[in-house]
Amino acid sequence: MKLPYAEPYKIKMVESVYKSTRDERTIWLKEIAKYNLFNLKSKHVFIDLLTDSGTGAMSDKQWAAMMTGDESYAGASSYYKMKEAIKSILGFDYFLPTHQGRAAENVLFSTMIKEGDIVPGNSHFDTTKGHIEFRKAKAVDCTIDEAFDTTCDHPFKGNINIDKLEKVLQENPKEKIPMIIVTVTCNSSGGQPVSIENLKDVKHLAEKYKIPVFFDSARFAENAYFIKKREAAYSELTIKEIVAKMFSFADGMTMSSKKDAIVNMGGFIAMRSEELFKKASVYNIMFEGYITYGGMSGRDMSALAQGLDEGTEFNYLESRIKQVEYLGNKCLEYGIPIQTPIGGHAIFIDAKRFLPQVPKEEYIAQTLACILYIESGIRGVEIGTVLADRDPETRENRYPELELLRLAIPRRVYTKNHIDYIAEALKMVFESRNDIRRGLRITYEAPIMRHFTTEFEQL
Ligand SMILES: *Cc1c(COP(=O)(O)O)cnc(C)c1O
Repeated sequence: MKLPYAEPYKIKMVESVYKSTRDERTIWLKEIAKYNLFNLKSKHVFIDLLTDSGTGAMSDKQWAAMMTGDESYAGASSYYKMKEAIKSILGFDYFLPTHQGRAAENVLFSTMIKEGDIVPGNSHFDTTKGHIEFRKAKAVDCTIDEAFDTTCDHPFKGNINIDKLEKVLQENPKEKIPMIIVTVTCNSSGGQPVSIENLKDVKHLAEKYKIPVFFDSARFAENAYFIKKREAAYSELTIKEIVAKMFSFADGMTMSSKKDAIVNMGGFIAMRSEELFKKASVYNIMFEGYITYGGMSGRDMSALAQGLDEGTEFNYLESRIKQVEYLGNKCLEYGIPIQTPIGGHAIFIDAKRFLPQVPKEEYIAQTLACILYIESGIRGVEIGTVLADRDPETRENRYPELELLRLAIPRRVYTKNHIDYIAEALKMVFESRNDIRRGLRITYEAPIMRHFTTEFEQL
């Protein structure tokens, strides 16, 4: 008999969560949050699946590293711990710490991207796209077509279509393409991985056109796990060996350490070129801080170095990804429509197929998020019309192809009982889905980035 997997850690410290009643939640959601779950106090949430960013649980070794953090302004030993971890695990000689992932993008793009540039990639993450467009440059999506079909089973839905990429490289002058960005795993297409073969092909093509390749690496370790499981040639390698192989096809990277480095705050840029390091250092000092701390405290750099090591261990990754998969499989078993294959960090519920009777003008995924909260105290996040915002010219709602409710699973935080609770809550809501006839109406919204602050009323 094969024994089941189990978490390769035990719990030493616990945090109480308040188990509210349905009546309490109904009032909080209406009166305090105005049907926007971002407006809830965290104490009003029983299981928080808003994001997996910065919400993970640090280990005893990370907390121990916090206690020995070196808070020297320049040359802190914590900085050198981070430098050593980046060199040994990711293989880069140079790096700059930043306070989080978007700050790394800000510094790197200030150095490399100018007005009129074109930056091809695989469904750039929203802050990445934002930082490109803010500089009046353009992000061009070259993801494979299979990524946009939620029911199609492709093992590497984050892959770049090499023909699409080559077309962009052919049709534009080299000076206008400062870099190619490959996001591993691809967040915007549901945490879907990129294969080694694809990374190799991208790098090969990039070399032909002499364009550097950068990885947007927030979930690089989860990407490596999927390579081990799905790309036959690499099944015998350790996660750290696969990670080294992946980054051998990159000239540099940006990192949101709030994801796979399992810290609550932090990020960095890493690169091979000393010249780029020197240029980027100027912006790092201006925006983030001196190059040996860049917006991070010494203790946070120490915890990050330790987190990079733990986050690239197979047993941890297996328990992490199997937990997400367990929830996804429960949903499939109950007939709940979700995006497949199941990604690394979250379950995406297809709200249009869940609530086909609710008109798109009434914010289907937001409606589903509110019902799930009222019934169970679980907080997810809408990835649909509210997030897609209005067309800047016509001011009409943009209705995206997909209305998704994302349930992101924090790292090392919830037990299997919590996951069962989530699955049963979804099942209960799914079974009574025909009672839900109407959605929501907006009563207040900000002119841009409305997702976080929109207020609604129930129809
Ligand atoms: C989270 C994330 C970012 C931005 O990082 P922050 O730490 O939130 O600023 C960039 N790219 C990807 C792929 C991410 O998941």
